[in-house]
Amino acid sequence: MAGENKRNNKKANQESKDLLDSQTATLETPVYELKRGMTFANRYEIIEELGRGGMGKVYRAEDVKIDEEVALKLLKPEISIDKKYIERFSNEIKLARRISHRNVCRMYHFGEERGLYYITMEYVLGEDLKTTLRRVGPLSAGKAIFIAKQICEGLSEAHRLGVVHRDLKPQNIMIDKQGNVRIMDFGVARFVRGKSITDVGTVVGTPEYMSPEQASAKDVDRRADIYSLGVILYEMVSGRTPFSGDTALSVAIKHKSEKPKQPKELNEQIPEELNQLILKCLEKDKQRRYQHAKELLQELSNIEKGIPTTERVVPKERPFTSKEITVKFSVKKFLTAAALVFFAGLLGFAIWKLIPGKETESKASLSVPSGTEDTSLKKTDSFVNGLELWEKSKYEEALVQFRAAVDKDPSHIKARIKIAEILQSQKKTEEAIQEYKKVIERKPSDPLSYKKLAEIYEKQNDLLEARSYYQQYLELAPQDEQYTMTKDHVDELESRIKAEKPQEESERKYSAGKEQKSRETEEQAVRSQTTSDPMKETTKIKQKLGSQEKKVKQSIKKADPENKDQEKKAITADPENTKDTRKEHSSEIAEKMKKKSLVSDKLDTGIQEFEKGNYKKTLSLMQEVLEMSPEHTEANKYVILSEKKIAEQSVQQMVHHYADALQNQKLISFYESHCTAEFYPEIKKDAEWLMRTYKDLNCLVSDVTVQFGEKNTAEVEISLIITGTSQRDEIKQALFEGVYKWNLIEQNGTWKIVEVSSQASRHPKE
Ligand code: ADP
Ligand code: MG
Repeated sequence: MAGENKRNNKKANQESKDLLDSQTATLETPVYELKRGMTFANRYEIIEELGRGGMGKVYRAEDVKIDEEVALKLLKPEISIDKKYIERFSNEIKLARRISHRNVCRMYHFGEERGLYYITMEYVLGEDLKTTLRRVGPLSAGKAIFIAKQICEGLSEAHRLGVVHRDLKPQNIMIDKQGNVRIMDFGVARFVRGKSITDVGTVVGTPEYMSPEQASAKDVDRRADIYSLGVILYEMVSGRTPFSGDTALSVAIKHKSEKPKQPKELNEQIPEELNQLILKCLEKDKQRRYQHAKELLQELSNIEKGIPTTERVVPKERPFTSKEITVKFSVKKFLTAAALVFFAGLLGFAIWKLIPGKETESKASLSVPSGTEDTSLKKTDSFVNGLELWEKSKYEEALVQFRAAVDKDPSHIKARIKIAEILQSQKKTEEAIQEYKKVIERKPSDPLSYKKLAEIYEKQNDLLEARSYYQQYLELAPQDEQYTMTKDHVDELESRIKAEKPQEESERKYSAGKEQKSRETEEQAVRSQTTSDPMKETTKIKQKLGSQEKKVKQSIKKADPENKDQEKKAITADPENTKDTRKEHSSEIAEKMKKKSLVSDKLDTGIQEFEKGNYKKTLSLMQEVLEMSPEHTEANKYVILSEKKIAEQSVQQMVHHYADALQNQKLISFYESHCTAEFYPEIKKDAEWLMRTYKDLNCLVSDVTVQFGEKNTAEVEISLIITGTSQRDEIKQALFEGVYKWNLIEQNGTWKIVEVSSQASRHPKE
């Protein structure tokens, strides 16, 4: 999205080109700094620096090609220049890329840009275990086991694929606020180190977690990871690593020859079995360690059973898949106050009091810097309470809290998802379906709810419905860790549908009552919303569908009396109609068959066009289908979907225009053509002020969400950063950082702005 900001990109590209030139030229003192707003490798728009490690810098960036947030690790030039490793490294990353597991950070791409090597990977929001340990000190046995078990799960999958981590350490373990663990940097370590830590000129990481065989540059296999995990466990429960020393070499020697102090001696609360387990991981001889991560996992689970329930971390249903975390906490709203509060929280700032209440939604479950308690927090109390109860497996009580959160704020997506999850686990499938549908209504860009719905429908053996939801998921989440798996699954589903199709269609003919029912369920989502939340929930799309249905029916009645007959048949499975059928001449039957195949052809083409993103094509094809068969569920659904997509696209376009206009000093004419006549004079003053006060305005849009409301209205939230240079003192600065909200209304087929508001996390001083 932000990639459309041509001017911005061009400028940034030039900057990065200059930068890369200068850096390849002066390798001794390499400057490889990427700045916010720059585009790297023609594809990654830098959002911020995330940190620095042994290999280089890590940035958060928007991959404009796929409109997705990633972490971009830019290798130090002195590493990059070491060509002999590049190929090996590239192979290693290719291997690591195959690991698709919820406890492993996804690797995407290893590339080169003007002599600089980089890796892109899933962007993970959370705190690394090292920081956590520094912050809170040693963990209880229950917590340590909870974390170690997840590490085992990730390792186990990697090892199964033949990938050894080699650099497992707390810095490479990320934990999100739900306690989900993600192992980072798989496949990276082999590249970092040379043959041994004593090799001259190789980059040496911290040796504290390194197995004895690694220290002696012996062959390394999965059991080295088990050793490192032993060190991590040791540190988690005792607060320190088994060996330390002044130099990397001395630590390495201790790993090889010194016996570690028992963790129990450092913390007597450690259960004896856990004490023994850790020591077994730390065996010098890899034959004497646990041989597989799975084995270790089993052992940890056994020990866990022995510790008091109050000390255990309740193994909960995984609340988020990796994708969801990215989407919910970062991609979608990375600039919103909530995300900033989160980072601020991590950094220990306490300057975010001014952030308006609504955006604190996700802050509640995250760490809140002390001193920032404001009234807005109270709003989210029920959600937080819900989460706490949920974590304790008190699902009924949690449900009450989540419902309260939704009552207070109907757009509380996270609470809705939680409600749906609980309902689903309680086998209240219909209710769960309705909740997921509400999530989608509220946030059509959220892929996971589509997938959840697809799975439910598939379980109910409603394959068509399942397929359609899977397809929407696939369309929205091409980078999800489960994408490929799901894609394969959908192909499989497809052939099942094909095999069952003739039967299903005849079923449909005779059980139109059922069709009617499933249609009802579909619309119930909307209706029930209208009744439960009359303020907001009716969508324009449904309204449109209503009127369109009427239109179609009318035209059929007028034009073709025979169709009326058919329509009737489709609606009621009235046995009387079978009499008519019997009376039919064979030519009529042939005619009907033809029509039927025409319907299915058009439907298929329509779906294909939808998948290609040609929503207008889909719409017209589906309308043709509806003319022939007005009650066609699938066609009706695609009409809704494509109308929604078309509307979304046109709003997105408008945002592009806005960004362009801002950068090209054409803001006033943008407003002139995109605001209602009443609103324009008002906003014009603002725009004139901005133009007068700043030049070189630049706009980086990170996210756009569109919500359709009643009576052809929509609300657009645009997360953006605007920068500009002050006309007065020539100082370049960030002018706005936060969320712009446009209220839109549809007038004669185009969307017009009726109101603009903003939630800034940063505002111009003036
Ligand atoms: P190290 O692992 O040695 O700490 P890295 O170069 O891997 O160094 O990372 C530096 C910092 O960048 C990490 O401490 C972490 O905070 C951040 N980071 C690295 N990878 C990611 C990622 N995929 N998502 C989010 N943050 C990351
Ligand atoms: Mg790392």
